[in-house]
Amino acid sequence: MSESNDTIFGKIIRKEIPADIVYEDNLALAFRDVNPQAPVHILVIPKQPIAKLSDAESQDHALMGHLLLTAKRVAEQQGLTNGYRVVINTGEDGGQTVYHLHLHILGGRSLSWPPG
Ligand code: 5GP
Repeated sequence: MSESNDTIFGKIIRKEIPADIVYEDNLALAFRDVNPQAPVHILVIPKQPIAKLSDAESQDHALMGHLLLTAKRVAEQQGLTNGYRVVINTGEDGGQTVYHLHLHILGGRSLSWPPG
């Protein structure tokens, strides 16, 4: 899929299309994945449209930390006390399909390793 400044996640941020939002603040948004791969599958995204992790720059370090701590907070809210996985697919080989940076939170079942 091609990269562009706007994506389906941009439309979700602007509330142009619906999403099951579980957390929002001024920097980040978290919503349920439309095609869940685990009982709990939530995406955490920055409101700022960084396309992919490899595009993040040193000036984004506070935002990157905020996204990780948001993932932790959402996982706690979802009751994932037995553990969970946070994944960032990056670029073509990483399996990224939506070019707006996102952290997948996967939980609610035992996850195998390595991923495919
Ligand atoms: P990626 O493959 O880029 O790491 O993950 C993109 C994720 O976004 C996929 O898990 C896919 O199911 C999810 N997704 C794609 N379009 C939508 C949408 O319109 N709404 C929601 N909630 N999730 C979406």
